[in-house]
Amino acid sequence: MWGCQKQQFMNNNEETKPRRIAVLGSTGSMGTQALEVIALHPELLQLEIIAANSSADILIQQAKQYHPNIVVVVQEEAYRKVKEALADEDVKVFCGEESLCDVCEMDCVDIVLSCIVGIAGLKPAFRTVSCGTPLAIANKETLVVAGELIMRTAKEHNAPVIPVDSEHSAIFQCLAGEHFNPVEKLIITASGGAFRTFTPEQLEKVTLKDALKHPNWSMGPKVTIDSASLMNKGLEVIEAKWLFGMPLEKIDVLVHPQSVIHSMVQFEDGSVKAQLGIPDMRLPIQYALTFPLRLPLPYPRLDFTQYGQFTFEKPNREMFPCLDMAYKASAAGGGMPCVMNAANEAAVKMFMEEKIKFTDIPRIIEHALATAPSVKPQTIEEYIALDAETKQRVMR
Ligand code: MG
Repeated sequence: MWGCQKQQFMNNNEETKPRRIAVLGSTGSMGTQALEVIALHPELLQLEIIAANSSADILIQQAKQYHPNIVVVVQEEAYRKVKEALADEDVKVFCGEESLCDVCEMDCVDIVLSCIVGIAGLKPAFRTVSCGTPLAIANKETLVVAGELIMRTAKEHNAPVIPVDSEHSAIFQCLAGEHFNPVEKLIITASGGAFRTFTPEQLEKVTLKDALKHPNWSMGPKVTIDSASLMNKGLEVIEAKWLFGMPLEKIDVLVHPQSVIHSMVQFEDGSVKAQLGIPDMRLPIQYALTFPLRLPLPYPRLDFTQYGQFTFEKPNREMFPCLDMAYKASAAGGGMPCVMNAANEAAVKMFMEEKIKFTDIPRIIEHALATAPSVKPQTIEEYIALDAETKQRVMR
């Protein structure tokens, strides 16, 4: 259902030694939470590798606190700083994008957790599944841009692809034990983002500061802005299509402003299973790493009386057209999801630099899709080239 599961990965009876984890993108919001979770369960999880693009100071602090065996830094200047700071520690420090991919293939890694933000996550993810290593995936671009290629390669090499995003983790949890039961529909819930209750006039005037206020989740800036535009939900629909092998018409989006129901699965008998919890990424991160086990997490529990009621509404597809753009781009296939994702990344960047309005984001993506070359990338390199070309085109 979610690619193929390596039997030994699923069979905890045979588990004798800790699972050795590589955390790519360890210095971001997801990465730091992942290190916290791994440190809670030394009997089952062992931090083997941490990797980041350029955040030298955080990487140095993480290496000293969590003692991985390998640290990878992509940018050279940051690498020199990290190397020097860790000279007295018992740790290997590698530099560059190629090293980031190479470590994914090392025998000392049982699971690669990719928390990389953006298209940079593509290559390491591909290399991971290419050698049959389980990939826990928090990086959205990998499946949005190259879902077909990644899942096909994962299947060929018997590499499980395990969801980390809260919605996909919820679906994954609902599907546990339902292996042979056909699914009628996936229902992905959405908070509705920071501007759910705004009028179109108000939406025209929102600022960067407004967009960075997510009602429920604490996340990085890119995904928070994507949540406000509903592009995040669009990307998640595409991810769900690949992760669970579901056609787009069987994937629904439902706005649930309390963000307690993280997503639902409807089966052929009409039964609906939901996964609930407080909005905290540490649970889906842990489940991805410890699956099929549930281990204690010493964090606050859901208090139903505190909520009083759960509410649901349809997403506003007119005000937030990014959601439908994602459905359309995914249905068109080929390079279109890649173009959409790249245009969105470029538009969000310009919005964060306060060069464009929030409502310009969907306009820019729409234009990029309408003027996109009709290409069907076949390799990771071709996807990366299309991504770069689209970003340049949008910036112009
Ligand atoms: Mg999500």
